[in-house]
Amino acid sequence: MKVDIIQKSDRKITFLLEGTTPQFANAIRRISMVEIPNLAVTYVDFSKNDSVLYDETIAHRLALIPFVFNVKDFEFKETCSCEGKGCTLCEVVFAVNKKGPCTVYSKDIKSSNKSVTPLYESIPIVELLDGQEIKFAAAASLGTGRDHAKFTAAVSFYRYYPNVKMNTQVKNPEICIKNCPKNALDIKGNKATVNTDCDLCKECIRVAEPKDSLNIWGDDTKFIFTVESISGLNAEEILTTAIKILKDKASDLEKGIKKMK
Ligand SMILES: [Zn+2]
Repeated sequence: MKVDIIQKSDRKITFLLEGTTPQFANAIRRISMVEIPNLAVTYVDFSKNDSVLYDETIAHRLALIPFVFNVKDFEFKETCSCEGKGCTLCEVVFAVNKKGPCTVYSKDIKSSNKSVTPLYESIPIVELLDGQEIKFAAAASLGTGRDHAKFTAAVSFYRYYPNVKMNTQVKNPEICIKNCPKNALDIKGNKATVNTDCDLCKECIRVAEPKDSLNIWGDDTKFIFTVESISGLNAEEILTTAIKILKDKASDLEKGIKKMK
């Protein structure tokens, strides 16, 4: 298996994965989306809400705010030594107390744990008019995308690597090149090439003269893989955690098989 990084930032990582199967790529994709532990607001207690939004709407908005945190500092509530009651190991408590006129932003959330803060400061929560007040306490805990979509750590996807072949000389190469919506096709002499922007839409084949002179297909052993973080975790951390989870699953299977008699 071969990996080449195409693009990498804190939020997004795109790489070429070569020499494997769609099943393996899909396992990594699914785990990175629904099995990564992530922090989200699970409980809100309003003591005052004069705003035009219902408590439930504000609670829903709070649950969608991504928080920066260190996953090693936290336990799942279900497996925590507090037996799910909520403690500093499995829960972070936030407080908001604002008086209008103003817009309440994510930066107005006061966290009980200094290492847990909203990823972006400018996420609007609610607008307060003159004299309106809002006061609530909220608690966030770990969960996974499988429990609820609000815990989803990343959006991951892959596509097959594009291959192109000229079967017979294309008579209208300029039209084929111009018709490619991604500007990914190039034809020089008797050689056609595509870059990684090609999404296999086959628009070039549709206009190529003569018919069937051009062939384009996806390689099912080579993938352009993207992991984009939608949480406070960075993309590389999500990907390495997904790989570790898959490894642990394989190791559990191995242990189970060894136990068989
Ligand atoms: Zn606990």
